[in-house]
Amino acid sequence: MDLLEYQGKQLFARHEIPVPSGIPARTVDEALAAAEKIGYPCVVKAQVKIGGRGKAGGVKVAANAEEVREHSEAILGMDIKGFTVYELWIEEASEIEAEYYAAIVFDRSARAALVMLSTQGGMDIEQVSAETPEAIATLHVDPLLGFQPFEARRLAFEAGIDADLIRPIGDFLTRLYETFIAEEALLVEVNPVIITPERKVRALDSKVTLDPSALYRHEENAKLRDPSDEDPQEQMARDRGLTYVKLDGDIGILGNGAGLVMSTLDVVAQYGGEPANFLDAGGGSKADAITGAVEVICSNEKVKAVLFNIFGGITRCDEVANGLIEAFATAKPTVPFVVRLDGTNDVEGRKILADAKLPGVHTAATMNEAAEMVVALAKGESV
Ligand code: GDP
Ligand code: MN
Repeated sequence: MDLLEYQGKQLFARHEIPVPSGIPARTVDEALAAAEKIGYPCVVKAQVKIGGRGKAGGVKVAANAEEVREHSEAILGMDIKGFTVYELWIEEASEIEAEYYAAIVFDRSARAALVMLSTQGGMDIEQVSAETPEAIATLHVDPLLGFQPFEARRLAFEAGIDADLIRPIGDFLTRLYETFIAEEALLVEVNPVIITPERKVRALDSKVTLDPSALYRHEENAKLRDPSDEDPQEQMARDRGLTYVKLDGDIGILGNGAGLVMSTLDVVAQYGGEPANFLDAGGGSKADAITGAVEVICSNEKVKAVLFNIFGGITRCDEVANGLIEAFATAKPTVPFVVRLDGTNDVEGRKILADAKLPGVHTAATMNEAAEMVVALAKGESV
């Protein structure tokens, strides 16, 4: 779950990371009132969950109330890379002597947090990383030992930070790591970290991604969840208690058991298809779970064909077949289905389906056969 810049800064402030003070505003009048409290000059900042706001004209310094009005009017409602600005953050203006870059990201392949620091802040870090990767100092944190203060200082030294700032930047990184761990974040990024003329370190921007699965442990953060930026299918699936992950393709997938669903995705990909989702209907796979699953899968407009891959163990194939018949009566899908039933009561299950003559439902005996069929159906070929 991504936070807005100011929500990230409020989170930072709770962990004693220095940030400029500011007030959120949703209208021009609110922005003017906020600016009066903060004083001038102040900065009017678009709050959208996308970077590059500055370049797009979404970050403007205002010297007086007139300029706050002018900038707020221009920025509210602005479109930044497809994101509409509904909210502003009015912040005390900072004097900038230098702009650095700092980030901590969860590096899954290394099974550890990765800390990154660069003196090339303020600009596009992807560009820095592509052109001068040596300008970014990095360190993987040992999850058991944690991020040691001497490591933070060494990283600052390696990044080429001025001698008098090694300690303050080290402290800054240490607090950033504390925030990352305490809030169960997947990413905390500050671009830029600024150095003021008084040689103070401050977070001038923030990008925070929290682990959505850990939100139940963080009441304050859970309140920041914005249903409007959630994927509609993932929302539907959560309401129905299903484990669903949206993917980019056009073949809907349902299986019972996470391992089976993952291998189904692989087999479909091997036959040249692109899965539209991961959906694990769970061990029991009762009729209501199947109806819910069919509704969620088919509500994704990209889906052109659906593969049901059931391996009966505890799950009985006849029960799944009856569930599917019920689901067809309620959800009335319009795309073709391929159903592979194997394992406990598979013969009965296939017979139930054959007798029901559901429109557009094909049966397959093996996973490979099923994958091949569904890929062909998604391409509009007949099987
Ligand atoms: P982004 O473009 O979405 O990354 O938004 P930022 O919050 O990083 O702001 C973009 C740029 O605006 C920063 O890199 C700064 O150079 C500039 N900026 C933002 N706030 C201030 C400020 O208080 N004072 C000054 N002088 N520049 C600022
Ligand atoms: Mn930035």
